[in-house]
Amino acid sequence: MILAARYVLPVAAPHIEYGAVLVRDDRIVEIGELSAMRAAHPEETVRDFGLAALMPGLVDLHTHLEYTAMRGLVDDLPYAEWKLQVLEKESLLDSEDWEDAAMLGALEALRSGITTVADLTDSGAAVRAVNTSGMRAVVYREVQTMDKRRVAEVMDSAQNDIAEWKSSASGDLLTVGIAPHSAYSCHPELFRQVSDYAIATGTPVATHLAGSREEYEFVKYGASRLAFEYRQKWGADIPWLPTGVSPVQYVLQWGLMDVPELLAVHCTQVDEHDIDVIASKDVAVAFCPRCNAKLGMGVLPLRKLLNRGVRVGIGTDSPASNNTMDMFDEMRIGLLIQRAVDAHEQFHVARKFVKLGTFDSARALRMEHTVGSLEPGKAADIIAVDLSHTHQLPTQYPYSTVVHAANQDNVIFTMVDGRVLYDEGEWMTMDVERLKARAEELRVKLRS
Ligand SMILES: [Zn+2]
Repeated sequence: MILAARYVLPVAAPHIEYGAVLVRDDRIVEIGELSAMRAAHPEETVRDFGLAALMPGLVDLHTHLEYTAMRGLVDDLPYAEWKLQVLEKESLLDSEDWEDAAMLGALEALRSGITTVADLTDSGAAVRAVNTSGMRAVVYREVQTMDKRRVAEVMDSAQNDIAEWKSSASGDLLTVGIAPHSAYSCHPELFRQVSDYAIATGTPVATHLAGSREEYEFVKYGASRLAFEYRQKWGADIPWLPTGVSPVQYVLQWGLMDVPELLAVHCTQVDEHDIDVIASKDVAVAFCPRCNAKLGMGVLPLRKLLNRGVRVGIGTDSPASNNTMDMFDEMRIGLLIQRAVDAHEQFHVARKFVKLGTFDSARALRMEHTVGSLEPGKAADIIAVDLSHTHQLPTQYPYSTVVHAANQDNVIFTMVDGRVLYDEGEWMTMDVERLKARAEELRVKLRS
């Protein structure tokens, strides 16, 4: 099949006007101008999206699909208070609720042109959601305990889940990892054991790291709401002493940076020494601009990380915090925030942010040889973004139109591994009406 549009944005190369992508089975075979491709392959059917951009599927480098249930629930509180409230609400949902919440997340992701997610879950709901939806994913099994006596049990249960989740996938779209939640919710012994396990098995690891001032003060000074209210509520009677170091230096001490693949999420509270560690240990970083801004978590030092060669990509961090899985908003707001604080040093351009949300996010997951750009031989993870709306006309520079004048609503077509999963209002793998009805039930439950 030939997919065609006014603009093809390969990401790894400049855009092509009146371009086309030849897809056979699950692969991209050829990219070029539509007229030449039609002439070379007269037998192929052509799907022409008109004034639209064909581009690689977006790679959401950090989310929690099951948190879609929490959309709009806690909107106006800073990070530590937000976290406390969300944790309290979690207890209102049962396993079926989590399943459907994750399905709602997958529904939104496909509708928004997200073809790969890097998801953190402890219920496993995300595994079912990505398998059902047909999306590509790295799902990390979340682990946490501040109680050293519980570490072995937590690791056992995680390893069982990881084995089960790996066997649940039919093709190669699912990768399973492990995720110690954060420095304020994991005992050092848990970091140590996760590290040993990841090194022995080659399992990828993700963790929330240096994401808020509250976390920084908790680790370094033993202070902040995370040290008191959070621990009172969830950490029981386990003592916690100031460590005198930053969160990055702290997890370094416990071996977490020795794993083969570490994805650090947020990294808004990092200094030059921390950036040295992140760069020298080849840690990948998930930049979540809207969540970081909305919860007052700080600003990621993007220029400094990129200048040190750190693999940075973009994540949404779920509707519980930002309120939509809209990677266009993330690209646009991320770009604007970085310009607002850093323009005197570096003026980032739109095309770079499209790359951050696609190829660079894939590279952060070591998947850049498979997805993240439109190139012959790569997997056919392709989306079409409608650029024909009045607020987008005229379209001068398509990379910049996508960043500055498009959003999730403009996605009209989502293909993963050569399979069409969303096409102009229709989802091929999901029961939309049932999930919308369930969203209302979840809303009522969470308000009780
Ligand atoms: Zn998160």
